[in-house]
Amino acid sequence: PKVDKLSSEVVDSNPYSRLMALQRMGIVKDYEQIRNKTVAVVGMGGVGSVAAEMLTRCGIGRLLMYDYDKVELANMNRLFFRPEQCGMTKTDAAAQTLAGINPDVALESYTMNITTLEGFDAFKATLETAPGSGTSRVDLVLSCVDNYEARMTINQVCLELNQTWMESGVSEDAVSGHIQVVAPGETACFACVPPLVVASGIDERTLKREGVCAASLPTTMGIVAGLLVQNSLKYLLHFGQVTQYLGYSSLKDFFPTMDIKPNTHCTNALCRQRQAEWAVGAPAREAAAAAA
Ligand code: ATP
Repeated sequence: PKVDKLSSEVVDSNPYSRLMALQRMGIVKDYEQIRNKTVAVVGMGGVGSVAAEMLTRCGIGRLLMYDYDKVELANMNRLFFRPEQCGMTKTDAAAQTLAGINPDVALESYTMNITTLEGFDAFKATLETAPGSGTSRVDLVLSCVDNYEARMTINQVCLELNQTWMESGVSEDAVSGHIQVVAPGETACFACVPPLVVASGIDERTLKREGVCAASLPTTMGIVAGLLVQNSLKYLLHFGQVTQYLGYSSLKDFFPTMDIKPNTHCTNALCRQRQAEWAVGAPAREAAAAAA
């Protein structure tokens, strides 16, 4: 009995074995698969940094992090970064903290603006199996940026690599947010249903209101990060139901969900091509589902 007690203590002190309780309880078939997964987090702000920490604590195999900004004291009303990290790039500061939390995760820090011409190419190259291969080496891309231009860049790169990604956002007043799965050809891409201001041709940079600064609640950002990583784990480890769109309105605690089908008239030709490819694969998918 003594030996049993000792071995169970050893097992319980291992963070992975605690997480693997999900496997023992029959929720996740093979939790250890998390060690073979690679996730890219674009934007290490209020949502992205917390999402990166959650994935690190879950034991993700490889984590790629992108941001062009540095840590500032003004960021301290969000979770994750610490005052002594002010002046460091967000990606380097994140890598420093996350390596301390879980040294088994392979961390890659990319300080870059993904929307410039060179940034676009560099961003795409870091996601590719080999330069110019057109295939992705990551299992999922998480968009945690705060502007339309960066989201459209992620959309384009992921359409080119046929890579599923998840979009996230927190409203300017910080009381609501959403997450959305974008699977090329299968669900709406980011250009299929543009936000109204963009569809009306208004430059989002002109939208900043005088004297109004975007509010940031660590609560809303933390909740959206949690919803995003929960959906990511379900997607990566194949359990539960992956939600295509999940909204969160904190004032009424309202969580709307919906599926967003691709727009057959999407302005992005590559999206229309991916839709055609997805339709071609439909009979094979239906046969596989029937056999399962
Ligand atoms: P605030 O805008 O309120 O000062 P923030 O800049 O931290 O805060 P968040 O919404 O918390 O904004 O996070 C968004 C993150 O996405 C930021 O860290 C920002 O630097 C990053 N980001 C936005 N656009 C790009 C881009 N084109 N390339 C790389 N990172 C980007």
